[in-house]
Amino acid sequence: MRVHVVGAGPVGLLLTALLQSTEGCSVHLSEKRDEYTRTRMVQLAPYLVADSVESYRTDSIDGDSVEAIFDPRELEESLRYRQSIAPDLAALLQGWAQGFCPLNSIERSLSDLIDSRGHGVERTAAAVTAEDAVSMLEPGDVLVDSTGSRSLLRDQLIPPSDRPSDGANTVNVRLEYALVITFLYGQPYDCNEYCKYYKNKDNPRYKFIPMVHRTHYDGNVSHVTGIVNISPEEYEAMPSRFDGEWLRANAPDVAESMDRFIDEIKQETHGEVLGDLEIVRIPLDLYRARNSTNRQWLMSGPSDHPFVRSPVFLAGDSAIGSPYFQSISLGFENAMFLARLVSQQDLAVRDMLDRYELFIYKQWLRVYMRSKMIKHNKDLFETLEDPLALLDKLHIY
Ligand SMILES: Cc1cc2nc3c(=O)[nH]c(=O)nc-3n(C[C@H](O)[C@H](O)[C@H](O)COP(=O)(O)OP(=O)(O)OC[C@H]3O[C@@H](n4cnc5c(N)ncnc54)[C@H](O)[C@@H]3O)c2cc1C
Repeated sequence: MRVHVVGAGPVGLLLTALLQSTEGCSVHLSEKRDEYTRTRMVQLAPYLVADSVESYRTDSIDGDSVEAIFDPRELEESLRYRQSIAPDLAALLQGWAQGFCPLNSIERSLSDLIDSRGHGVERTAAAVTAEDAVSMLEPGDVLVDSTGSRSLLRDQLIPPSDRPSDGANTVNVRLEYALVITFLYGQPYDCNEYCKYYKNKDNPRYKFIPMVHRTHYDGNVSHVTGIVNISPEEYEAMPSRFDGEWLRANAPDVAESMDRFIDEIKQETHGEVLGDLEIVRIPLDLYRARNSTNRQWLMSGPSDHPFVRSPVFLAGDSAIGSPYFQSISLGFENAMFLARLVSQQDLAVRDMLDRYELFIYKQWLRVYMRSKMIKHNKDLFETLEDPLALLDKLHIY
């Protein structure tokens, strides 16, 4: 079986590394970038390397949802698959679940692992078009689109006659606009909900919210990342990426809030911010592909189009994206599920597609509930000093 994986970001790479050790499977991996440069710090969720169903469900926000959505047997099967992952790859996953690391070091390690194993993968350095992807499919091949949030094939998964408009295959929930602000701090610094409250108590607007576990002390330096909610108008007026100087000159109220927050940290731990703030402005979108396979093509009747005979899947950010940064972990779970499906070579194509659609839908339910809960908690947090505004946001019974 030949599997074409388009997009060698973290998810395409993990899928390739998993399939590389699957008997009877060869992978054709295409990537348009020539080097891995993204330095943002990410962390894998502990559930990715859980060794029992109980530890998989140990999560204060979505442990109950996992129990409600997934059957125990499903969870057991997926844990069994994880335990069968080749030791070289399993060791990398264990390491990334311990703490933060730069995205490009995850990408490079996976890429190097694939190359060092030296078999079963053909790599192409090129930007693949949708037409290229369709034309590379021979009967019996599998195609996986792991090209990220601006997926190459998401819209193509519905036959043109059933496609009312571009974007029809995406459900998008815009939760808010935010600045993601990152800085380095020269002392150990950790944060919990009390800390978020007290360090923001003099910030009526523009509260800086470090994400739980998003402050990381690596021996000499704490990496701190958090978000500040901004209005749609402010978002439109800002460049996509900027520094503290730009913030001070153009958004002084946000800069003052940051200064107050950082002063509180300094009073507590007597350190200094190292270097400047790094700021990106992003819409926090929670989205999914309505169809994450080409199942609609198979139901559309006979045609010469390759999508009628070969399975096509979306993986990682192509299929689902969540704003409060669990996306890599979700994408890695997708890759593991997909690698397991592909390795069951006696499975009918239709069953493969149905199972993947069901899995992605369950992942969507889980992340939708989780993200809405976090957003609701954030909204409440922002009005803690104003009981009436707070009560307006509560629906108690
Ligand atoms: C500011 C910020 C902070 C984040 N922090 C976290 C975090 O802490 N934790 C977390 O879990 N997630 C985080 N995320 C999200 C995380 O980075 C993504 O979920 C993850 O990178 C998705 O992996 P992917 O492989 O699906 O897609 P991508 O990383 O987008 O990779 C897609 C790959 O496909 C390639 N490609 C695209 N089009 C083509 C084409 N036509 N032909 C060939 N190749 C192509 C691209 O070059 C890229 O290499 C963050 C995101 C942002 C923006």
